Amino acid sequence: MKILVINSGSSSIKYQLFNMENEEVLAKGLVERIGIDGSCLEQETNEGEVIEIETEIENHSVGMELVIDSLSDDENGVITEVKEIAAVGHRVVQGGDSFSESVVIDDDVKDEIERWASLAPLHNPPNLMGIEVCEKLMPHASQVAVFDTAFHQTMPEEAYMYALPYELYEKYGIRRYGFHGTSHKFVAESVAEELGEDLEDLKVITCHLGNGASVTAVNDGKSHDTSMGLTPLEGLIMGTRCGDIDPAAVPFIMEKEDLSPEEVDSLMNKESGLLGLSGVSSDMRDIGEAANNGNERAELALKAFNYRVKKYIGSYAATMNGVDAIVFTAGIGENAIGLREAVCEELDYLGVKIDKEKNDVRGEIAEISADDSEVKVFVIPTNEELVIAQDTEKLVG
Ligand code: AMP
Repeated sequence: MKILVINSGSSSIKYQLFNMENEEVLAKGLVERIGIDGSCLEQETNEGEVIEIETEIENHSVGMELVIDSLSDDENGVITEVKEIAAVGHRVVQGGDSFSESVVIDDDVKDEIERWASLAPLHNPPNLMGIEVCEKLMPHASQVAVFDTAFHQTMPEEAYMYALPYELYEKYGIRRYGFHGTSHKFVAESVAEELGEDLEDLKVITCHLGNGASVTAVNDGKSHDTSMGLTPLEGLIMGTRCGDIDPAAVPFIMEKEDLSPEEVDSLMNKESGLLGLSGVSSDMRDIGEAANNGNERAELALKAFNYRVKKYIGSYAATMNGVDAIVFTAGIGENAIGLREAVCEELDYLGVKIDKEKNDVRGEIAEISADDSEVKVFVIPTNEELVIAQDTEKLVG
């Protein structure tokens, strides 16, 4: 069975076509700058064939047609006709408390995705657009939605409730939902497999450290708490997002800087985090380089990022009453050797002992803790697209 995985953003469509017989990626690609000057498609197949198209792509429908044409291209494509695509798995960011697992898409599901758009105005509308375009262009294929929030629906209410007037939760659904669920689930299951144990018997802390970053406590195989909240802004310091701050700082900044709600939201989401602290970049590689060259604010950004990760690991070890394994994943977690060492070095009180030689790895599955470490520490590359394809296959079988 061939399954297409789609991540439809406001001006982009990321895609991967899987052959589920062996879970091989047949082709992957990206349509960029939809509706903007300079729009283009780039695709690479498992055979290394590349297609690059620069043309006007005025909307998602045109973009998706181009994706289908490229996948079925006579010379450099991987399928002969679109009907070979049996199903499409869509990444959907916010499913609120309506979805605790992936679902086959029907009209009711689409209504729910639209309803939750008020909490994810930048993500759910383009996700839905991707679904509707695929329904139109591939009417033969089943469509499945895989939600970033679904894995976290098992959190207990003491973890997901904010101590605001209860009516705000009842009226607007204001609570912690958490994100990156597909990634946290994947790496938690992978670490159990690596350890040869049932995830249900383990206490795992998963650190998804990328441009967006979150930590999750996985207890009994379920998400028990996670650092992102109502939106992906809460928690860790991220590329351009501030993470945790005193909420009273928000009206204060709005008043002093004469900012509207949209402007202060943009300040916290796009001008803060590593970028805001360092003034150098949102990219961890640039921060590392600047810090090595003596840039004090880059050094501060790096130290603050590490500190926050450590703080969450410690608090989740406390709320789970222990931890058996810690996992690092995503761009920073998989590659930043020094950061992993710095975070783990001062977790010896928990029984974490890092092995510096084993930690000298990037982007591959590796146990990086010492043999006598009570808590096992792993690097596990995340693969959200594969999880979406697997969930889709399970549902459409
Ligand atoms: P992601 O959002 O998962 O693609 O991760 C992007 C982040 O990973 C960026 O901050 C990159 O700087 C960071 N990253 C990628 N490679 C490295 C590396 N070799 N060392 C440190 N950070 C890295």
